[in-house]
Amino acid sequence: MITFCTLFSGSSGNASVLLTDEGAVLVDCGMSGKQIFQALEAVRISPADIKALLITHEHSDHVKGAGILSRKLDIPIYATEGTWAGMEAAVGSVPGSHRVMITPGESFFLPGMEIAPFSIPHDANEPVGYRFYLPGHSVAIATDLGYFSDAVRDAVTGAELVLLESNHDPDMLKENPRYPQRLKSRILGRKGHLSNQMGAEAAAQLVRTGTQHILLGHLSPENNTPEMAYASTHFALTQMGARVGRDVSLFVAGRLNPSYLYTIP
Ligand SMILES: [Zn+2]
Ligand SMILES: [Zn+2]
Repeated sequence: MITFCTLFSGSSGNASVLLTDEGAVLVDCGMSGKQIFQALEAVRISPADIKALLITHEHSDHVKGAGILSRKLDIPIYATEGTWAGMEAAVGSVPGSHRVMITPGESFFLPGMEIAPFSIPHDANEPVGYRFYLPGHSVAIATDLGYFSDAVRDAVTGAELVLLESNHDPDMLKENPRYPQRLKSRILGRKGHLSNQMGAEAAAQLVRTGTQHILLGHLSPENNTPEMAYASTHFALTQMGARVGRDVSLFVAGRLNPSYLYTIP
């Protein structure tokens, strides 16, 4: 059986788990070790099953608890060279045997799965998304995207389940008085975050080419609501003739709580 869920998803912290009969991998660890362990308990996944920690990029909402988790569980961390350089201070002391360097575009293997990291347009050193190939199944994680590039589209097309960013509503962001202009420009830029509308268009493209489950994630707490994110993608999918709930499932990942557990028998 294959299980996928997010434990946390958003600017305050990200972590997702992919569990198979041969063990689990954790993608990103952007909350404290304690919070990650509590969330794992909530979804009844044993920390002992986690065999590796995969990092997308060095921003603190993705690496906060990475070092602690690696040390507590005695598991390796996989990240690109650029990400390693950017997260050294946050991760702290990790033995050489637990430092694995990966390259975008070059697949690697863990028990029961092939993992293909792919470059994403985001303002970090060398950020990646991940595509997982399991016997007969495929899952992809694509968040922290300035835009849905052709390269990202090609990397995730055909995955049956995609965790896709739906970060903000551009109008809410532009009108938010608490956000300085520089931050707004960063989020709206080509290396920032995917808006609800862009996420919806991406979802429609993916569903047209076979994706059956869309999980919207990395929502902004201030410039979005789960209802708005859901409505944007629901509209785009309905417009292209897909029946949400029948042809395709659509959920929004919780910012601070585990998402719906996708299980594939
Ligand atoms: Zn992020
Ligand atoms: Zn980021």
